[in-house]
Amino acid sequence: MHERRFLLPDDRGVVVFAPAVLEHMYRHAQVRFYQKEAGGQLFSTNPHEAEVLVSLATGPYPEDRRSRHGFEADRRRASADAHQQFSVGRHVIGLWHTHPESHPSPSFRDRETSVEFLRINCANLTGFLLVTLGNQGIAPHMSVYLADGLSHTNWLALEEVSVRR
Ligand SMILES: [Zn+2]
Repeated sequence: MHERRFLLPDDRGVVVFAPAVLEHMYRHAQVRFYQKEAGGQLFSTNPHEAEVLVSLATGPYPEDRRSRHGFEADRRRASADAHQQFSVGRHVIGLWHTHPESHPSPSFRDRETSVEFLRINCANLTGFLLVTLGNQGIAPHMSVYLADGLSHTNWLALEEVSVRR
């Protein structure tokens, strides 16, 4: 499996999703009608570099609230993960979850939930990713949004870099 790359605005660099992270998310894609949304946190060891590598995706967990059209991570579990990963040099840089549609984009509620999560867990982050994963194909469509700036009210869709293979 190949990595996937998304451009940050204003030539600030690129966000790279490692194959292991993609595999983890793809495993939870809602390809069957009875599958509930899944999700969790995204981590990186180098969130401030020009090439930000997303190297770990966690979740879902039994404590999460999940339905066909909804996902809310269990806060206690999420912050336990964040602390544990921080101790080995990984920072939370975003959230991911699946959608039961081919071309996903985050709902208003998704953005609200993310901003709330941000304020509690990583208030000093200036950029935060919100990833929604679609449910069709070997490499499903992924929407990657950046909540930019300290207010986290400015949402930008990041463009995927297409790679010739
Ligand atoms: Zn959603």
